[in-house]
Amino acid sequence: AAAPKPSYLEGLNPEQLRAVETLDGPVLVLAGAGTGKTRVLTTRIAHILATGRAFPSQILAVTFTNKAAREMRERISHLAGAAVEGMPWLGTFHSIGVKFLRRHAELVSLKSDFTILDTDDVIRLLKQLIQAEGLDDKRWPARQFALMIDNWKNKGLDPDQIPEGDSRAFGNGKGRQLYTAYQNRLKTLNACDFGDLLLHPIRILKNNPDILADYRDRFRYILVDEYQDTNTAQYMWLRLLAQRPRANNTAPSSHRSETVNICCVGDDDQAIYGWRGADVDNILRFEKDFPGATVIRLECNYRSTAHILGASGHLIAHNEGRLGKTLFTESHDPDDEKVMVHAAWDSEEEARAIGEEIEQLQRRGAKLNDIAILVRASFQMREFEDRFVTLGLNYRVIGGPRFYERLEIRDAMAYFRLVCQPADDLAFERIINTPKRGLGDTTVRSLHDYARSRDIPMLAAAADMVETEELKPKARKSLFDVVQNFRRWSQLLETTPHTELAEQILEESGYTDMWKADKTAEAPGRLENLKELIRSMDAFESMRGFLEHVSLVMDAEQNENLDAVSIMTLHSAKGLEFENVILPGWEEGLFPHQRALDEGGRNGLEEERRLAYVGITRAKRRCHIWFVSNRRIHGLWQSTIPSRFLDELPEAHVEVAEVEQNYGGYGRNAYGQSRFDRQEPFASSYSSPGWQRAQQNKTDATRTNWGNRSGLSVERIGYGEAGPTGRVIQGE
Ligand code: ATP
Ligand code: MG
Repeated sequence: AAAPKPSYLEGLNPEQLRAVETLDGPVLVLAGAGTGKTRVLTTRIAHILATGRAFPSQILAVTFTNKAAREMRERISHLAGAAVEGMPWLGTFHSIGVKFLRRHAELVSLKSDFTILDTDDVIRLLKQLIQAEGLDDKRWPARQFALMIDNWKNKGLDPDQIPEGDSRAFGNGKGRQLYTAYQNRLKTLNACDFGDLLLHPIRILKNNPDILADYRDRFRYILVDEYQDTNTAQYMWLRLLAQRPRANNTAPSSHRSETVNICCVGDDDQAIYGWRGADVDNILRFEKDFPGATVIRLECNYRSTAHILGASGHLIAHNEGRLGKTLFTESHDPDDEKVMVHAAWDSEEEARAIGEEIEQLQRRGAKLNDIAILVRASFQMREFEDRFVTLGLNYRVIGGPRFYERLEIRDAMAYFRLVCQPADDLAFERIINTPKRGLGDTTVRSLHDYARSRDIPMLAAAADMVETEELKPKARKSLFDVVQNFRRWSQLLETTPHTELAEQILEESGYTDMWKADKTAEAPGRLENLKELIRSMDAFESMRGFLEHVSLVMDAEQNENLDAVSIMTLHSAKGLEFENVILPGWEEGLFPHQRALDEGGRNGLEEERRLAYVGITRAKRRCHIWFVSNRRIHGLWQSTIPSRFLDELPEAHVEVAEVEQNYGGYGRNAYGQSRFDRQEPFASSYSSPGWQRAQQNKTDATRTNWGNRSGLSVERIGYGEAGPTGRVIQGE
């Protein structure tokens, strides 16, 4: 008789079970949203551990977000029992990359305490390099070049590998030269950017066969979630680790398994990172890459109601470039609500109405944790944040670095960085005259020149220069104090508890006093934030550990225990699920995004549609879609047209909410008829009271801020969304 099934396998359907139990050889699970792909991966790991096939340290498991990694870790220890300690190689590509790189940094001329630069740092650095080349940084914006570098790195390209045309496209043909200078500069700074977290490991593995063999041996099982959104560099890295040595390989590895135990799960309909270099072909060619692969399809959706499934399935069927798959659900509750479509006059009204909707849900017993607002572009968030603050509704922004992005936090972090990493010139420049110490541009420039000519960090240059007569006495005294302080703090790093030291640094540097003396309205809030920063360091063992956490986990700063509405971009909602999902801003130009439309062709639009599919399929029970008739874009009011995706929803599963006014013609007309007239969208709306109100609002200060807050033009928004690491490329 067969042994009884372990409890963690109970409840799986036969195909899921097969995916969990096929432990030898490559496995691909290709299946639609909510079919249990992630659950299969998690259970598979539990199974590997429970059957003693591998130690936790022999499993490499890649998730798309840090949040997903945390959840998976919890689930596994729950399933496989508390006996399972850790899982050092469970995380995002980036976090695994950092771990790897800290171990082998010297092989790419870094020290193991290298700094990870965030987008702001990168842009500041590039600006300097662009100026140093004698180029006009207005004509050749650093931000644009940062995106180009990111693209190259996603494709795994070193400076000498980038296409000639790419190089010519920036800085009067100096693209390659600038990219090289940038990489050199990073080395001097003992720093790397996000792309390097993957490219350096690839270089190390390629150039050091012994290390490669070692890791290939170590990782008995490789598992990857959201495989459809891996980019070329990630793919290269996985292939390196998953390739088996050929039969004639003489390495002492006779015990090594010849099969590749790699299991990837994904859904081609949810490929939404093409704009960041992800390549859906990676999933489509899995069988070619890993001959003999078992391909498993899951067709039962356990997440959503039949209406939600019907609506999303009908929508995605409009895409041509897809494999196509069947999805069914066993839940057929006659009380299930259809997908609701609502119209609002403008985004302010949209936020107000959604606030009401949430309060109503709350009255009916819903928890705020079960409600999510998923936006196309991060600028849409502000209006909701403002509204919820007014209403006193708790909310959290996921995937967007809110807290750590604040000015005072970034300043404080620069102090900490410089204490931990004296070569961090960017941190040095940020705080050298903050608070004001009479160390203005002239001093900084001479420090800069001195440091550059000797190829030493600026802090070291400062230590040298206070011994010379080069600086004016006042600046010299001031700089002397700074140098002394940092010297002392660095020493204390080893002996003083890090939170205490952090507080001390902010006190002794005069940074806290600067805000105490500040009489502006924001100052008290800033002081509170600094306190909160120190508090948040408590959870870490060291200041270095904390700094690393901040650069990696921008989405973890919010209190997970608070009952709160989640606000996030559609991109960062991938893999998640909520009882109630609210999808605002379904208008042409915003969703589908203008940039995708401008691209022409099928690709951009189809990726937008996949994003819409991801959005709807996050919902378990209720899905509400909104659009507005007027939206302010580039600071100008524009009347908008309801998204074509609304037209593509099936009547059987969708209901249009009753509206008082005829917003864009959508609300009034019955389904099946032409729902609105694209030629003359709102000819009659301009004289309505709502329009006039909207006009008046143009002068309202809070609203004028709307576009400026992020500093982004609308085309850029959406293409600078939170990436896989949760970081956001944002305006200043
Ligand atoms: P996505 O494509 O959105 O990432 P997914 O395929 O990864 O979705 P999961 O998140 O793993 O799907 O599962 C969706 C939901 O269905 C989860 O709440 C999960 O617990 C539940 N589920 C999965 N398999 C089963 C099952 N056999 N029985 C009951 N519930 C299940
Ligand atoms: Mg999943």
